[in-house]
Formats: sequence, C-alpha cells, structure tokens
Amino acid sequence: MGVAVDFDQYKCINFDEGQQIFTDGDDGDHALVIVDGIVEVWINSNGERISLQTLGAGDIVGEMALIDEMPRTASVTALTPVTATVITREAMSERMHAADPALELILRSLIERFRRATSRIDEGKRGVHEDVRRRILQASKLQAELMVALTESQFEMHYQPIVSLVDGSVMGFEALIRWRKEGRLVAPFEFIPMLESSGLIVPVGRWLIGEACAALSRIQAGFGDGRARFMSVNVSGIQLDDPELLGVVRTAIAENKLEKGQLKIELTETMLMKDADATAARLQAFCDEGATVAIDDFGTGYSSLAYLHRFPLHTLKIDRSFVDGCENDAQMLQIVRSISTLAQTLGLNIVAEGIENKQQATVLAALGCDYGQGWLYAKAMPEAELGDYLRDDHAND
Ligand code: C2E
Ligand code: CA
Ligand code: CA
Repeated sequence: MGVAVDFDQYKCINFDEGQQIFTDGDDGDHALVIVDGIVEVWINSNGERISLQTLGAGDIVGEMALIDEMPRTASVTALTPVTATVITREAMSERMHAADPALELILRSLIERFRRATSRIDEGKRGVHEDVRRRILQASKLQAELMVALTESQFEMHYQPIVSLVDGSVMGFEALIRWRKEGRLVAPFEFIPMLESSGLIVPVGRWLIGEACAALSRIQAGFGDGRARFMSVNVSGIQLDDPELLGVVRTAIAENKLEKGQLKIELTETMLMKDADATAARLQAFCDEGATVAIDDFGTGYSSLAYLHRFPLHTLKIDRSFVDGCENDAQMLQIVRSISTLAQTLGLNIVAEGIENKQQATVLAALGCDYGQGWLYAKAMPEAELGDYLRDDHAND
C-alpha cells in the first residue's frame, strides 16, 4: 500500500488504485484536495453501490468534516493512483474563528441544510451545536455593536503617564483605548481582538492616532513647561498594512505641530518578525515622518535577537510579566538584566511596564532602565485628569 498518512497540513499523501479513502459512517476530521488522479464518491443503498460523482485534480473531497462533527455520509475510493493534500478540521477551525463570524454561520448552516436535505443524519443529531451557535451569535452581536461604537464615537482614549526612573518626572504617555458602552467603560481585551479580526481596527486606529496627538498638543499647551513629552500609540498588525496609515501619521504630526520623536508607535515583537523586510521598510517610513518606534511586550514573543538591529527601533518596553517579581525573584531579575543589556547594546531606551511598587522601580533603575510605567505612578486616565496629574509635581516622589 502506498499510504503515508501524515495529517500535517498540506502534506501530500498517496492512495493506490482501488483503495478506499473514506468510509460512510466513519468519523471524519479532515478533507483532501486532490492533486492528481480520480476518485469516486459513492453510497451503499440496500447493498447496492450507487456512484454519486467522480472528482479529479483541484477538487476537494470529505469537506463537510471540516465544518461539523457529523460522521461521513459517503464513501470515497481511488479509481486511479491518487495524490492529495490534507486539510484538517483543527487547522480550519482556527481560521474560521479568526474570520468574520457571519462566514462561519453561513458555512455551518449550508452544511446543516445539505445534510438535512439528503436526510442522512439522525434526527437527534441535527442542528448547529448550541454552544457554537451561541458563540457565533455573541461574536456577531459584538461586531455589530463595535460598528455602532465607531459611528457613534463611543471610543475614547485614556492616557497612562510614563515617567523617568531617575527623577520620577513625566516623560510621556501611552494612549490606551476604552469603549464607553451604556455608561460603562469596557477594557480593550474584551473588544480589541474583534476590532482586529473584523478589520474595524483600521478606521479606529486612524482616528485614535489623530486624537492622541491632538491630546498631547493640548496637554502640553495647557501645562506649558516647554518640555516635549512623547505619546505612544499601539498599532496592530493589520494597521501596518493600511496604505493610509503613513498619511494619517504625517497629518497628525503636522496638524499638532509635534516635534521629531513626540509620536511613538508601539508594535509587538510578533508583528515585527512576520514579514521582517517589509515591516522594516514601513517603520523606516514612519521614522522619516518624525515618529519613533517602540517594541512592546518585549520578552513575550519569539523574536530572533539577531534580527532586532534591522529595524529602526528607538525604545524597548519590557513586558510586565518580567517586572512582576523582579524585586524578589532572582530568575526574573536575571531576565530583566539580560533584556536591559540587549537594549543598551542596541542603543535603545527602555521602558519597564507594569511597575507596581517602589522596590521594582529601584531595581529597574539600577539595571539601567530609563523609564517606568505602572500603577505605582498612575493608571491610564482621561485627558481632563492629566493636567492635574502633571501639576501635582511627582518628580522625586
Ligand atoms: P499594552 O500595550 O501592553 O498596554 C499596557 C496595559 O497594561 C494596559 O492595559 C495598562 O492599563 C496595563 N497596565 C499599566 N500599568 C499596569 C500595572 O502597573 N499593573 C497592571 N497589572 N497593569 C498595568 P489596557 O489598557 O487594558 O490595555 C490592554 C492591551 O490592549 C494593551 O496592552 C494593548 O495591547 C491593547 N490596546 C490598548 N489600547 C489599544 C489601542 O489603542 N490600539 C491597539 N491596537 N491596541 C490597544
Ligand atoms: Ca502598548
Ligand atoms: Ca505592553
């Protein structure tokens, strides 16, 4: 037998002529895309083999198993030697979850109706699984609500101070989005993933860059000590692909008369590494407009350290999971020390995220971290509260 069943995605497998590939009633967890050869799809009706169709190169067979968990409804036999690639349900469901929830609903409903029309499933087993339906419904509802949130301006920006670890003075801010929904503030983790998967993060991102830069300009004008502070904004992967983003950055800097380095773009390690050459070129274009780039949540991704110098980076933000415990856990301390050394070697300034107590601040300052951000200093707050925060002199608290 020439079968080399390896269900890794896109692996080719071979079947001999006459070999049964799928059997009616079996549990299915994968489909096959026929690369070469011909298969017959057939059913057994009262002992009689009834041929439903023959399929060849470029056709998919067994695809219903990708969408639902019902047994196979027909058998498939190779009529010639066959080569095929495998698509697993696991791989497909990952992609389906990342896609528009309506797409998943359409696919599941089509399969369900087809199965019902051909009456080849038990009465009791019919229906899109209840928890799947509930999940799709919730996702569709959230997506619709976010669309309304965008058109009705329900998003607002809060700003968290970033301070000098040397003297505690406020050096800049990170803009963090909030959703004001029926009077309640919704945290980003509840809606950012949906903004990203639906693509809504693109218009929201364009808006928030302008908004954050305008806020910085107002805060500076209102406070008036002449020191140019920076504003860090988070940018998601799909925003980097937005052809208008560069223009948005240019306009935001120009309209608010920001100096070089006052707008900082935060990207995670994973985003940098995805398409390194193209990303490096895009980031350079932002720098040419006067922005700087920070690598966010550093230490949580899988960046190849050898690659980092290829990007026009200015700042490295040490993830708060390493800051948490660095004051009493030798291992954490060692990690922070290594990251700091790396940043210093690359000439990057360092922001330590999530500082919650003074001991952490002291340790981090001793390791050479320039800036700190965390609840020890302040939580993110609306623009209206920042003036007061800046006026209460926090330096050397
Ligand atoms: P992030 O970029 O790592 O932002 C820092 C998060 O840590 C913020 O949570 C902040 O409130 C929180 N934080 C700050 N200091 C402390 C501390 O001392 N202790 C603890 N436990 N937490 C602290 P937030 O605002 O909930 O944001 C969560 C994530 O949502 C952000 O993580 C970022 O990935 C994303 N996000 C927020 N705003 C935006 C945005 O405007 N655009 C995009 N694309 N993503 C955003
Ligand atoms: Ca961030
Ligand atoms: Ca972060």
